[in-house]
Amino acid sequence: MISKEFIKALTEIRHHIHQNPELSELEFNTTAFLKEKIEAEGIEILPSNGLKTGFVAKIGSGKPVIALRADIDALPILEKTGLSYASQNDGIMHACGHDLHMTSLLGAAKLLKLRENEIKGTIKLIFQPAEEIGTGARDVIAAGLVDDVQAFFGFHNIPTLPAGTIGLRDKGVMAAVEQFDVKIIGQGSHAAYPQEGRDPIVATAAIIQNLQQVVARNVPPLEAAVLSVTHIESGNTWNVLPDSARFEGTIRTFDEKMRQMTKDRFIEIVNATAIAYGVKAEIKWIMGSSATYNDPKLTAYLFEQTKAWHNATLVPEPSSAGEDFASYGDLAPSVFAFIGSNAVGASGLHFADMIVKDETISVAVEYYVETAFSMLTYLNE
Ligand SMILES: [Zn+2]
Ligand SMILES: [Zn+2]
Repeated sequence: MISKEFIKALTEIRHHIHQNPELSELEFNTTAFLKEKIEAEGIEILPSNGLKTGFVAKIGSGKPVIALRADIDALPILEKTGLSYASQNDGIMHACGHDLHMTSLLGAAKLLKLRENEIKGTIKLIFQPAEEIGTGARDVIAAGLVDDVQAFFGFHNIPTLPAGTIGLRDKGVMAAVEQFDVKIIGQGSHAAYPQEGRDPIVATAAIIQNLQQVVARNVPPLEAAVLSVTHIESGNTWNVLPDSARFEGTIRTFDEKMRQMTKDRFIEIVNATAIAYGVKAEIKWIMGSSATYNDPKLTAYLFEQTKAWHNATLVPEPSSAGEDFASYGDLAPSVFAFIGSNAVGASGLHFADMIVKDETISVAVEYYVETAFSMLTYLNE
């Protein structure tokens, strides 16, 4: 169905994009490059409405309206893949494989445009900026470019799944992301006279130990959550007890109920333990993306449709990474797939030696195209 020459051209496009990665909110050249390709196909690009990078294009007209989304930003990582088409922007790398996502959406756009007369409705193509910093989806939504969309579809490549496999799973597939930063305020003293101070180090150690109860004792055994303390600092010498300590980390959950419960328990445990140790706690809470939730009905339908054209379709494990695609799910039902892009045991996303295999491109293009037609049929019924 997709010709070899077409895939070869897309492969060259991906290599070009991979060589020229740009950081979140700074994807100016990437945006210009993509726009040029989209315009060359005669596809309409919507006015930016203040969106600085990235854009939304559309094919077809009228209802129903669906959207296909690809993200376009890269990461501040020094590439160590040794590929002939490795990054030429030092210290910046497409280590999350967004180069694959946008290339496949470009390919799908071209194929869909050729079949525009078969499209009963509108397909919006979202080339989204700033996924890695969690602001891009919100910016696209705030620009009013997807208000009329009735269902959203996207995918993420997974280098640790065999190239070309498609994974579709319903409900929570990627985690909600919370970030915490806690300051423990005690009273410094001579190390030899701890009774004259209020030791923030012993208090912090107790708090971190007590926080382990949240996942072990409050999260039901068949549900999942992660609470990781990743950074701790206090004091600067061996014979003085410091005034304060600080620790930070993250919580990952897969639905709103767990998200709220783990946050509530976190705050209770930190504050109560602080009181027990005679210190004060200042909690800074930064909410990231919500969980990416796949609509069960749409997912079941799409799974059957996908299986019909692609044998290697499976139900994957959820991922405890975050994904700002979740924001679209707050507007309308959505489905986010995983597409295998290398092999079991390969380096995962965000690794400096992460490699997305070229053979993933054709499956990804076809996934976008088939999904668009399937879902328009579904919504027209
Ligand atoms: Zn990423
Ligand atoms: Zn990503």
